[in-house]
Formats: sequence, structure tokens, C-alpha cells
Amino acid sequence: MAVVQQLFAVVLFFVVITVSLGGILKKYEAVMKQQSLELGLYNSSDKVVILSNVNLKEIVLQQNHSSLVEFYNSYCGHCKRFAPTYKKLADELYPWRSVLRICAIDCAAEENNEICREYEIMAYPTMRYIGPHFTAGPQNYGTPLETQNLSEIKNNLAQWLVAENRTANITNWPNFQHVTESDVDTLFEGLGSQKEYVIVVYEPENSTIGVETILNFQRWSNVQVRRVTDNEIAAKLKIDSAKYKIATIDRKGNIVPYTSLADTSKAYTETISSFLNAQHFTELPEVVSSTAANLLLLAERQHENEEIVKEVKKNKHLVYQADLEMAIRGTIFNEVSKVGEISNDRLLALQRFLAVLNRYNPLGANGKIFITKLYEYVMQFNQQLSGKDFENEVTKLESQYKPIFSANHYVGCTGSQPSTRGFTCSVWQLFHYLTVQAARTEISQDPLEILQAMHGYIKHFFGCTNCAEHFQAMATKRKIWSTPNKDDAVLWLWAAHNEVNNRLAGDSTEDPLFPKIQFPSQSSCSGCYKQPISPATMETNWDKNAVLSFLKNIHNPEYISRYGVEHEELLQPTIEKLRQKRMIGNVFSDMDMRMGMLLYVFCIGMMVIAFKLFAFKGYRKKPYGHDLLGKV
Ligand SMILES: Cc1cc2nc3c(=O)[nH]c(=O)nc-3n(C[C@H](O)[C@H](O)[C@H](O)COP(=O)(O)OP(=O)(O)OC[C@H]3O[C@@H](n4cnc5c(N)ncnc54)[C@H](O)[C@@H]3O)c2cc1C
Repeated sequence: MAVVQQLFAVVLFFVVITVSLGGILKKYEAVMKQQSLELGLYNSSDKVVILSNVNLKEIVLQQNHSSLVEFYNSYCGHCKRFAPTYKKLADELYPWRSVLRICAIDCAAEENNEICREYEIMAYPTMRYIGPHFTAGPQNYGTPLETQNLSEIKNNLAQWLVAENRTANITNWPNFQHVTESDVDTLFEGLGSQKEYVIVVYEPENSTIGVETILNFQRWSNVQVRRVTDNEIAAKLKIDSAKYKIATIDRKGNIVPYTSLADTSKAYTETISSFLNAQHFTELPEVVSSTAANLLLLAERQHENEEIVKEVKKNKHLVYQADLEMAIRGTIFNEVSKVGEISNDRLLALQRFLAVLNRYNPLGANGKIFITKLYEYVMQFNQQLSGKDFENEVTKLESQYKPIFSANHYVGCTGSQPSTRGFTCSVWQLFHYLTVQAARTEISQDPLEILQAMHGYIKHFFGCTNCAEHFQAMATKRKIWSTPNKDDAVLWLWAAHNEVNNRLAGDSTEDPLFPKIQFPSQSSCSGCYKQPISPATMETNWDKNAVLSFLKNIHNPEYISRYGVEHEELLQPTIEKLRQKRMIGNVFSDMDMRMGMLLYVFCIGMMVIAFKLFAFKGYRKKPYGHDLLGKV
């Protein structure tokens, strides 16, 4: 009976552990999903609708409204610079939201790989206009929006929305038709009794200010805004092209003309808003629910980042294991995986990249097998491979050899703000690391091995489109293909990176706590500077031998910092760890160990004898059998 009870308790214990682990995992998943929604360039305080693989279908596809979707990479500088404009657009077009949603999706989030691949996104940011009742399919990825100028975007959108209205079977859209001769006396015909006023605005030809104004009042149930272009028809409504551009008409046919401060939709909107406010009319209540803010989570995350940044700032030049791993994760699990088709030069570039990663892999034992297997898989192809197949193979290998990564967040590349640093920083670190490993070892004599792999990777996979263009131009200008030896390859990349630092110093994407400097700073390596710095040119006079040793030092696997790594057991022990182990071993000599063993055996023997004596004594006492009361 007792055995059954014990068994039951053990089973119950395991059930409780499994259930609570499941709960914790579910919570963790939800948190991660929420994080990916909140960690891009937009958050729930913006009017931009944040899309992901979870909600894209229900918000964008087969809807009664249109959408403008920005496909961006949260680490791409160009996308970061464009984000304030896009937020402004979303603010300004917020009144249009029953008809048009301004949305964005972060293609740097792994869970969005499939969508970004499906929509064939080749450059970042890419904006696509997606009409009502849209179904994605081959050659049907929405209409590309080529401009990033705010008023041009508005203009394009207004035109597309008008065109939709003519062709598509959509309900509850505004009436974009110009007022015609026959309309003048029948403006209220077909309108519900809620509509107390029709407001007509003058729209000069080849302009969209009338359409924009109509859309601005789309959500006001008491009025309908119409546009008029024909001067004669306008005159019948007391509108002219010079002074009175707006007229309000009530159900009794009373017409009141209004002036506008300018010929813009903004000025028209202000005039009409003052009129509506005077009538105490209000907008329809909210229909779009924005992503719930998880402020607590963000605050926690921010606090963690602050701790990391504090640590990293103590030794700004250190290279961190976590960043190298995050670069590998980002390149393989996100950037390569989201490419539609990998063929010709792109396939070669992937093979070269995986070849050098396989040779000088900074990951632990599991990660090494993972990269080797992935490299072997990719090498089988000589024509083409799809991003989807590559992603499937990555997922398969990951589940076979997991855990692969010892870290899952940036350390040296952590930004002081969510939109700074991160992936691009880690990509630089990874390639610097690879150039140094190639120079430190004799595995290959090819001076271009790493630079060629990097050039191909940046050209064909790097999601920061304008970075890739700049890098290729710089490679030609700096004669990358003439690099004579492996040490010079280390220095080539160092100098190229400094050129980028120079160009970006003071840029809006710069992290205020990590300003772009010529690397290494004097405080990190005073010997790298030949004194004095040339005052005429203000150019740094480098001692390149010292720079080379400095770079070789900071990228030496022995000195790569493991700060912030969560699973150090996956990595090879450092020399320091081995030394500590050996020191423990060295405290006792072989003789000491043997003596210890003898003592151990002796003690066990003594305990057995003592037990036997005690048990035997107890057994002998029993036949006399007196209890405490002296009864037999
Ligand atoms: C190939 C490439 C091209 C890019 N081109 C552009 C571009 O054209 N426009 C744009 O806006 N962004 C570009 N970026 C991104 C940009 O360079 C930075 O990565 C980004 O602004 C983040 O900067 P950061 O402060 O994290 O430091 P990063 O410049 O990313 O540097 C990362 C780390 O590398 C070390 N480091 C810095 N300089 C050197 C050096 N010279 N040698 C060795 N180590 C160094 C430092 O420890 C630093 O913290 C590019 C990125 C890459 C990988």
C-alpha cells in the first residue's frame, strides 16, 4: 500500500512540474510575441498598425479597406531615418482609417520571414499599397509606392483610393464623384437622415485636395463632403476658384460659402472642422484597436539594457561572444531565410559565407556541428535553392542539435535606445572576428577568403539596402581585390569600417552613448596613434602595426568576453577556467589521492564493523525480553 502511495506521489510530482513548465513556456511565448511587436521601429503609441505573421491576414487581406504596408528592417539606417516621416503620415492619415490603414511589418523579426519572402521584398524600406479584397499570389504583391516624400505619398494614395472606388465592389466608401450639374439640387438624395449637411469643396484640376478633404471627414456621420471642379457648377453653390472654396448646404437648401486660408487639404480641413465643432458634431467612435502596450515588459527590458550598457561602457573595445552569436543567428535564421530564390552569384555568396563560418566558427560544440551540416547541405546545390528550403533545413538542424546558441541577446551591441545599434553592429564584429581568425591561423593562405565572403554576403543578403550599396562602392574605391595578405585583410576591414564611422558621425541613427569615433580610441590604444596627430589635416596618424596587434588581441578567442552569456556550458572552457580546474587538481598530489582513497575504504570498513557489533548486541539482548515495566 505504502509503495502505491509513493508511486502516486512521484507521478503527481511530475505532472505538476510538466503542467507548470507548460504554463511558463506559454507565458514566455506570449511575452516574446509581444516583444517582437513592440521592439521594431514603431510601437503602440504610434498610429502605425504593427503587423506580424499573426495578424497580417486579418488586417490586410480580403478587407473592405485598403492598406499601405511598409516592409522594413529595424536595423536598417535608412528605415530608421524614414520612420519619423512614416509616423507623421500615419498621424495625418489617421482620419482616413476606415478606408486606409497605415501599417508596417519588421522583416528583421524571424517570425515574419515567410511574409517578407512571399511578398518578394528585395530592398528596405519597401512600401506597397494593397487594395480592398486583396489576395496575394504570384506576381501580385500590391502596388509599389516609389516615393518617400510625405505629400507625394498622400497624393498617390488619394489617387489610388479614388481608382479603387470606381472598380471594386466595396461598401461604405466615401463618394469621390465630382458634383455634376444634375447633382446640385439632389445632394441629399440617397443619404441617410443622419446627414445634416453636405459640404462641397473646390478642387483645382490635377490636384487631390478635394479627395484628401473628403477622406479627412470620412468618419463624421453628420456630414458628407463632396468635391467640385467645374467653375460653372461651383458658382451655383456659391463657390468660386478665387475666394470662396468651400460651401455648406443644409437640408433646406441654404448655402453658406466659406474662405480657406490656403489651397491645401490641411487648410480646407481646418475651416470645415471649425464649422463642425460649432455645430457640436463629433467623429464616429473608434473601430481600430491598436496593439496593447506592454509598458511593464518594455520597462523591464529597458532596465536590463541599461545594466548591460553600463557594463559595456567600462571597456568599449571588448568583443563579446553574445554579439558574435547574435550575428550568426540574424544572418542565417533571418536574412538568408527570407530570400525567395538563392541562385547563381547569390548561391555562391552563401556557400562562401558558410565556408568561412564553418572554418572559424565562434559557436560552441553544437553550433559547430550545426554550421558544418548546414554548409554541407548548401554545398549540394549548384543551380538554385529556395529560401524556404533553406529555412526548413535550418529549423530541422536546429531541432536536431539544439541548443546551438549560448546567448540570445546583444551585449556589446546593445543600444541605449531600442532603435539603435544591434544587428548591424554585430555583423561588423563577426566579420572583424573572421578576418582576425584567418590571419591568426594557417588554415588558409587566401588573403581574400573573408573579404570575398563578406562582400558577397553584404551584396546579396544584407537587409540594409543602402549600406550594401555604399559598401560595394567603398570596396571598389578601396581596391578590396588587391589586398595582398591576411594581415592586410584585417586592416582593410578596419579602415573601411572607420570610413563608415566617419560618414555616420552625428547622423540621426547614432546612439548618443556610443558616438561614432575613429576606432580604436586613444584611451583604448594610445600606441595605435603616432604622435602628434597631424594638425594640418586633422587626420589620424595611425601606427598600423599597433592597430593590427590591437585588433588581433581583442578578437583573440581567449579574450572574447562571455559577459551576458546564458549557457556557458555550451562553449569550450576558457584557459582561465582550465587553469582553475588544474589548480584544484594540483592541490592534491597522486600520493595524497591514494592515501585519501585508503582512508575512505578504512572508514567504510570501520562503519560496517561498528554496525554489525551494534546489531549483534541488540539481537543478543532480545531473549531476555524485559520491557520498561520489568514484564517478561
Ligand atoms: C558592411 C556595413 C555597411 C554599413 N553601411 C552603412 C551605411 O552606409 N549607412 C548607415 O546608416 N549604416 C551603415 N551600416 C551600419 C553602421 O555601420 C553601424 O553598424 C550602425 O550605425 C550601428 O553602429 P554602432 O554604434 O553599433 O557601431 P558599429 O559601427 O556597428 O561598430 C560595432 C563595433 O565595432 C567596433 N568598431 C568600430 N569601428 C571599428 C573599426 N574601424 N574596426 C574594428 N572595430 C570597430 C566597436 O567596438 C563598435 O562598437 C553598415 C553596417 C555594415 C555591417
